[in-house]
Amino acid sequence: MSQESLQDKLRRIPGVDQLLLNPAVRTWVGKTSRTFVVGEIQQLLDEVRAAIRAGDESLGQAVDGEQLVVLLEDRIRMHLRPVMRPVINATGVVLHTNLGRAPLSMAAQQCLSAVSSRYTNLEYDLATGSRSHRDKVLESILPEVLGCESAAVVNNNAAAVFLILNTLAAGREVIVSRGELIEIGGAFRIPDIMVRSGAVLREVGTTNKTRVEDYASAIGPATALILRIHPSNYRIRGFTHRPALDEMVQMARRHQVPLVEDVGSGCLLDLRPFGIEGEPVAQESLAAGVDLVCFSADKLLGGPQAGIVAGARRWVDPIRKNPLMRACRVEKLIYGALEATLASYRAGRALSEIPVLRMISASVGELEARAEAFLERLKPRMPSHARATLVEGSSVVGGGSCPESSLPTRLIALESGRKTANDLEGILRSQDPPTILRIDDNRALVDLRTVFPDEEDALLEGLCLALRAPDK
Ligand SMILES: *Cc1c(COP(=O)(O)O)cnc(C)c1O
Repeated sequence: MSQESLQDKLRRIPGVDQLLLNPAVRTWVGKTSRTFVVGEIQQLLDEVRAAIRAGDESLGQAVDGEQLVVLLEDRIRMHLRPVMRPVINATGVVLHTNLGRAPLSMAAQQCLSAVSSRYTNLEYDLATGSRSHRDKVLESILPEVLGCESAAVVNNNAAAVFLILNTLAAGREVIVSRGELIEIGGAFRIPDIMVRSGAVLREVGTTNKTRVEDYASAIGPATALILRIHPSNYRIRGFTHRPALDEMVQMARRHQVPLVEDVGSGCLLDLRPFGIEGEPVAQESLAAGVDLVCFSADKLLGGPQAGIVAGARRWVDPIRKNPLMRACRVEKLIYGALEATLASYRAGRALSEIPVLRMISASVGELEARAEAFLERLKPRMPSHARATLVEGSSVVGGGSCPESSLPTRLIALESGRKTANDLEGILRSQDPPTILRIDDNRALVDLRTVFPDEEDALLEGLCLALRAPDK
């Protein structure tokens, strides 16, 4: 075989028409189209010919019909696979922005499936039989959960900040501390948003220290509002000062200027018992007297992507009426998923029902027991050159939240005598479902905190396959 000349090998490759006669290939033609399958065959044959010419042994050997059909079927399946698919998040990063932030609760999933493929009363008043408005869907539950008069939902928190500024402050001044002129990942910068909104930024204080008097002395006839921003993704430490919320509220009241707070993560529960420090709780800000808060729904809140603006009706109403609201509105699926998520908070069951809160509140003991049980199943199936050990480590909240809070966890550290951790990581990433994990010190680390219990079987299979995969 290896003596076979290049020309002979090339000549042995079947043609497109010949391959189209194969029953498996014909089945694909029936399931898709002839044009599609012919295109795939042509590309495959081009690759095989190129491999033969280049002396590539692996692909260059595949010149007989049956082998080509196997390759073709793999290729077609890969092509037909959706680009966006579920992945197993074994990184321990709970709100992984690249992995879609918060996974939804069961209740939210059920609601999505109920409202997505049928008609709904999104903008229809069932009591009167007349037109309604989509804002009405969450009109009672949002204020109920948040403890405020009114709330509106937009596409994300960036849109919420923009709409607040554009509605309440265009052509006027917004006072912001220099220590809070943040950039959130993905090029969302407060000063840039401010310019686009038409509001004029009035910076006060310094990077490390801003006092309540700095705000007070900047207030003048041009002042539209004071904006306080939670520095979600960084902390300033050392010689610093940031006024307490109460001081800010009193000062704003005294000068009759609305105080708006971008609380960022939409934390609606005190997560300090679980080691999450310094996340403002939206209800606490509202109770303290902040006029308007805004936050993301897909960070610590644990819902779908959305931005929520909540506070006094006096400030929410004009935002709802802003013509740009139409450009930032969300569709029925988001209302449904958000309502179901908020219902868990209202029922006092958020910690057990909302995945991100369940993950954050998982104890080390719980994670250790899961990791031990997993190791017990993994070890007997590992090749002899591989090693898996239980090690101490930490998970993080992520998603630009709680940069200094880490959650103690137990990791499964994998080492292979035949592969680097990078190789293992790459194999796991290309599996179906893909597994995403961390690497440290040439070990692949699995953190079960962010792995759903019902994903453990698939993860186990994936790890065994990766450890046994042929060496490159
Ligand atoms: C995350 C964040 C934003 C942006 O929110 P998106 O929902 O991602 O648009 C804005 N402000 C703060 C403080 C944040 O933490």
